[in-house]
Amino acid sequence: MDDKLLEIKNLSVIYKTDEAIVHAVNRINFEIGTKETIGLVGETGAGKTTTALAVMQLLPERTGSISEGEIFFKGENLLKKSKNEMRLTRGARMSMIFQDPMTSLNPIVPVGEQIKESLEIHNHDRKNKKELEARVDELLTLVGIQPRRKGEFPHQFSGGMKQRVVIAIALACNPELLIADEPTTALDVTIQAQVLALMAELKEKLNTSMIMITHDLGVVAETCDKVAIMYAGEIVERGTVQDIFEGEQHHPYTLGLFGSIPDLEIETPRLSPIDGLMPDPTNLPTGCKFHPRCKSCMEICKQRQPEAYSFDAHVIACHLYAKEV
Ligand code: SF4
Repeated sequence: MDDKLLEIKNLSVIYKTDEAIVHAVNRINFEIGTKETIGLVGETGAGKTTTALAVMQLLPERTGSISEGEIFFKGENLLKKSKNEMRLTRGARMSMIFQDPMTSLNPIVPVGEQIKESLEIHNHDRKNKKELEARVDELLTLVGIQPRRKGEFPHQFSGGMKQRVVIAIALACNPELLIADEPTTALDVTIQAQVLALMAELKEKLNTSMIMITHDLGVVAETCDKVAIMYAGEIVERGTVQDIFEGEQHHPYTLGLFGSIPDLEIETPRLSPIDGLMPDPTNLPTGCKFHPRCKSCMEICKQRQPEAYSFDAHVIACHLYAKEV
């Protein structure tokens, strides 16, 4: 596709607690082109949100840190930016939508004021009061809220409408990258579809690239161009949406996510969820992190971390593919 907007190279993130070191993200690589959407998919604790917080440099200051790797945004290494430069980059060039709109909105400030605050903080050239008001109206209209409601407080809006306000705040400064962390999980099913449709429409209209964090493969199929499947802080498979949904080769964990693990001994693949739990990130297994749950586990899997094998843009980190490359 178009130029690279974001490149993540060999990124690892740890959290230090009094008791242990949590290996939350382990040497991941992916990139996003201009106007592309990538889905980061996996169970809770797979490292998806930590990856997003690392990109935004919003990791908890006292406990979280990037232990290795690089994050390039339009060729600039974000990890070399000062705190102040990064603060200006956030909001103006990249922004994030969180799962629960109530954690993002201030309950005692009218929604229009909250959008205006975001414009004032990040968009210094738009100082004229009239212009600011016009931009607030424009953003509310963009997300399907009538501008006359801008004086209302968050509690006067439904869950879906609140998330629309959050999206308006995130889009206030026309970010080049939007990170959406499970943006519809806290919403009713019927509202989820509307918010997703709105995000897809806005992405087209505004040419924004997006990281969509989700555990829902249906959301990925509807909204993403590329997919990275995460497990225990690693990307175990990545490729285009076609590679993941129509390709023949997959990481056993991806097959598990789809709820079907083909058993080569029998003709008809049987449906089977993944047994067991994600490993403790303070005590990860040796070799392949998925080996305690993998039905295809071989002796080598317990000892050696698999390499990432590439089939064009489709990459699978699994010993099963060693002989096929
Ligand atoms: Fe399973 Fe081995 Fe592949 Fe890991 S490397 S997913 S244990 S087959």
